[in-house]
Amino acid sequence: ERLVGSVADRDDQAVEAALRPRDLDEFIGQEKVREQLDLVLKAARARGATADHVLLSGAPGLGKTTLSMIIAAEMGAPIRITSGPAIQHAGDLAAILSSLQEGEVLFLDEIHRMSRPAEEMLYMAMEDFRVDVIVGKGPGATAIPIELPPFTLVGATTRAGLLPPPLRDRFGFTAHMEFYTPAELERVVHRSARLLDVEIGAEGAAEIAGRSRGTPRIANRLLRRVRDYAQVRADGIITREIAATALAVYEVDARGLDRLDRAVLEALLKLFGGGPVGLSTLAVAVGEERETVEEVAEPFLVREGLLARTPRGRVATPAAWAHLGLVPPQAAGT
Ligand code: ATP
Repeated sequence: ERLVGSVADRDDQAVEAALRPRDLDEFIGQEKVREQLDLVLKAARARGATADHVLLSGAPGLGKTTLSMIIAAEMGAPIRITSGPAIQHAGDLAAILSSLQEGEVLFLDEIHRMSRPAEEMLYMAMEDFRVDVIVGKGPGATAIPIELPPFTLVGATTRAGLLPPPLRDRFGFTAHMEFYTPAELERVVHRSARLLDVEIGAEGAAEIAGRSRGTPRIANRLLRRVRDYAQVRADGIITREIAATALAVYEVDARGLDRLDRAVLEALLKLFGGGPVGLSTLAVAVGEERETVEEVAEPFLVREGLLARTPRGRVATPAAWAHLGLVPPQAAGT
């Protein structure tokens, strides 16, 4: 797994549990989402009701799992965690739903990857707190209705647009999670450093935050790697210089690009004069699969405004030349 990859690796999982904010006040950033969610939950609590179903959309590592746990905690309810791909058959979902306690939060990660029959069962469960379980086959098959206790479904997806509209419409509240600002990530780094008992200066935290691609999971991971470096090569205290040197060792540059990202940009600039160049050609030039370049490297480069995908091929932006310290060909002659 890449150091700057946003999907959780094995190393992350145990640490993440320890670093998770427990309530809305501890949750950093996402001000709008926090304010809206706070109202939704307070109102439900005041009515003595179960909270409405909540859909969380946003890139991996922005805190969707964390937020679902906070929702349960704020409602004083237990939480069950599962994911779309884990639910193969409608029967799997029926088993989970019928074993929920009243008020329980069901967190369904990657909800867009559920099977069709399970999805249809979920519509009815969300709306009427009821599922029909089909018993038997052929002409003798019967639908047995099962009443469910009221529960709160918290669905998570990378993009709300991936959900079929009938499913999307059944959520009472949809929260779109944005990438975090550097200032917010600095607060994440300071908070995590405190919990991990690591000493860090303001500039050290800023250095890590600036390279974390707007993602708390990456900030926490970079912090751990910088801590390792500080322990082995210095006195354990994370200064700006220690952070920068450590992240250079791990090949994460000042903007959060890693070796692959830079290889793609360098090929685009040095071999193809900034493009346009086709994806396949670019992939061959960096010795990677097409998919790796397209799905792993490009999204962040596009987001950062370093690369554009055009109908004629990939094109570098002026910012890309500047970031690699190179001069675009037209400008070179003038
Ligand atoms: P995925 O979709 O990949 O499961 P996720 O969006 O559910 O990711 P989480 O697992 O909730 O992400 O968060 C990743 C890590 O980032 C956790 O360790 C959590 O502590 C930290 N984190 C996320 N959001 C915040 C936040 N707002 N404040 C502080 N820490 C955060």
